[in-house]
Amino acid sequence: MIRSLLIANRGEIAVRIIRTCKEMGIRTVAVYSEADRDSLHTQMADQAVCIGPASSKDSYLNIGNLITAACTTRCDAIHPGVGFLSENPKFAEAVEESGLIFIGPTAQTIRMLGDKVQSRHTAVEAGVPVTPGSMEPISDATSAAQIADEIGYPVILKAAAGGGGRGMRIVREPKELPGAISIASREALAFFADGTIHMEKYLLNPRHVEIQLLSDGKGHVVHLGERDCSVQKNHQKLIEESPSPIIDEQMRRQMGADSVRLFSHIGYRGAGTIEFLVQDGNYWFMEVNARVQVEHPVTEMVCSTDIIRQQILIASGKSIELDGSAAKLTGHAMECRVNALTPGIVTTFSPPLGPSVRVDTHLFQGAQVSPHYDPMVAKVIVHGPDRQRTIEIMLRALREFKIEGIKTNIESQCIILQSKPFRSGSFGTDLHARLFDGENTR
Ligand code: ADP
Repeated sequence: MIRSLLIANRGEIAVRIIRTCKEMGIRTVAVYSEADRDSLHTQMADQAVCIGPASSKDSYLNIGNLITAACTTRCDAIHPGVGFLSENPKFAEAVEESGLIFIGPTAQTIRMLGDKVQSRHTAVEAGVPVTPGSMEPISDATSAAQIADEIGYPVILKAAAGGGGRGMRIVREPKELPGAISIASREALAFFADGTIHMEKYLLNPRHVEIQLLSDGKGHVVHLGERDCSVQKNHQKLIEESPSPIIDEQMRRQMGADSVRLFSHIGYRGAGTIEFLVQDGNYWFMEVNARVQVEHPVTEMVCSTDIIRQQILIASGKSIELDGSAAKLTGHAMECRVNALTPGIVTTFSPPLGPSVRVDTHLFQGAQVSPHYDPMVAKVIVHGPDRQRTIEIMLRALREFKIEGIKTNIESQCIILQSKPFRSGSFGTDLHARLFDGENTR
């Protein structure tokens, strides 16, 4: 059993992991950069170790410092959280080579799934439909033009090693293609140290629907239903909900069965998510996120389970606390991400309370929002009997949320929640652009 755990992360996810550890009687060790000395995760953990200066590359991304911190504080395991090193196979390898448990899949699985080209092959092998496009990296403009003609414009060029909504370029006409290829591969090389790109058909205004899975690596794979993450700005998620308003029971069963088959096929271990694009009743595999995701609380609410706890149990060689291959969903849950639009010191902090509301955050009055890190500062998650009631609870919660000293996106989240397309459930990934960049459908 894991007795002491180092959390190789910061912010709300570090706080979130510490909370579950406290419930499980596990001692926690936080790591912090010089900019995070007074942060909440540093205060909440049983022990805290400084791992370097503010810049992430010298602290939260410094593998050597993290491993040394875990060894000197006598930890048994490391939880990577989300972002930072959570999908870095070299980190997973280094953790295991030091005799520690990595809370996540094996380095080999992370490496295979982290490459968008390779993961498309894996999906096809498991009989899961993938978005139409190239099955091999784009090597030259001529063969790329041939593929684009076959699948039809617009197309999207993606960095094989990309993530977080970055490293993608939409190409609308043949004459744009050669230039777009050289820019996309140069950018891929600069951002992800790998210039490999591939091409997919660019679907117009699809839905983003993903399946959450837990797998013990010994043959038990269970899916925890879907999350609809179609409300996005610049390909980055803003609002997530479960169940999806466009998925019926039959489609859920089919997507769930496909996802379970894919994870069984690769002997996946841990929590993971398969992301799909959905349009007109069809769905296509997009990628696997081989870690816990920001939006996991939505699933926790409808499935009445603690995903971090299941991750720790799986890493300890124990069984998942869910039977069968599909979890039962109860009611409706929704998450709104609260992003800081400016850095600064939080002068007032009063999060929403009351029935059916959960807030995951690392903020408090006096907290410093640093420009060095991800701008997401809180997640408001609510649970209701149905979608309509859930939206009402969310609006009430967001209006109750008082944060002063920094600017946030709370007001624009309220605008989305009140918009006609969002309320009707009938919208796609362009909703944010439609509401805020011109054509107004409110
Ligand atoms: P990342 O790994 O950066 O998160 P993804 O491949 O998961 O990138 O895509 C992020 C978002 O980009 C999707 O949710 C969707 O909105 C958009 N997207 C990606 N591929 C396509 C596509 N083929 N057609 C239309 N939109 C796409």
